[in-house]
Amino acid sequence: MIGRFAPSPTGPLHFGSLLAALASYLEAKKSQGKWLVRMEDLDKPREMKGAAEAILRTLEAYGLYWDGEIVYQSKRNDLYQSALNELNVDKRTYACSCSRKEIQDSAINSQIGIEGIIYPGTCREKHITKTPHAIRVKTLDQNISFEDIIQGHVTQNLAKQIGDFVIKRADGLFAYQLSVVVDDYLQGITHIVRGADLLDSSTRQIYLQDLLGYQHIQYAHIPAAHNQQGEKLSKQTLAQAILAKDASKNLYQALCFLGQRPPADLGAEKTEQILNWAMDNWDINKVPKQKSTAI
Ligand SMILES: [Zn+2]
Repeated sequence: MIGRFAPSPTGPLHFGSLLAALASYLEAKKSQGKWLVRMEDLDKPREMKGAAEAILRTLEAYGLYWDGEIVYQSKRNDLYQSALNELNVDKRTYACSCSRKEIQDSAINSQIGIEGIIYPGTCREKHITKTPHAIRVKTLDQNISFEDIIQGHVTQNLAKQIGDFVIKRADGLFAYQLSVVVDDYLQGITHIVRGADLLDSSTRQIYLQDLLGYQHIQYAHIPAAHNQQGEKLSKQTLAQAILAKDASKNLYQALCFLGQRPPADLGAEKTEQILNWAMDNWDINKVPKQKSTAI
């Protein structure tokens, strides 16, 4: 079993990302598996200086030591490009030069999907060569299903609910959906445990895995944490950084949040004792099924 934690260095580690780190760590370590860390730092303009280093130091302070070398996505453009080339050769992609406004305007005749406007496929047959252009992958009008360990049966029709999606942006950056699929494959990831805010991305990732001939991965989506205003914890919602000095308290609270029911006196122990208890008692079936929980 190989699991992973894949933070974006857009800010320091907060409680929501600790949940994903801890759950993925315990799920891998419970089975004597490996736990890898990957820095999803493709979007350099959104990166916060020093955040990647701060995230790693916080993981260490919380006793969450990773196996092997950290993978930095920003150094792997050639790998994403060769995956993209494979899709191009198979004619699974097309260039799209639509501006944001053109897509907005075309929305009158198109439907709203789960992530906003469904791109109506305007450029599918146009064979655009002018630059800049984005690269989209053609979706199919058929259901993609998988069994999530926590959320159960998930089904999506990409053509009807998402539309042809961007895998390389007009500014030259590879999109999350492609880079994550390539890296999970190249790193040999077998189990993904992450926040349920990414549940809707899973079918796009399974679709890309199929197109590229990669094996499927087992998914488990834990509840995402949101604040009292109902906003997902993130840098944008000013989620507080978790501090090294609060490691025991936060690990204990994270175990409670993940439905593991640790004994009350465990919260006063050192991180090592808490993680030892967690490793002995971790049961992913106890994680609540809801997609989001207030903290
Ligand atoms: Zn277009």
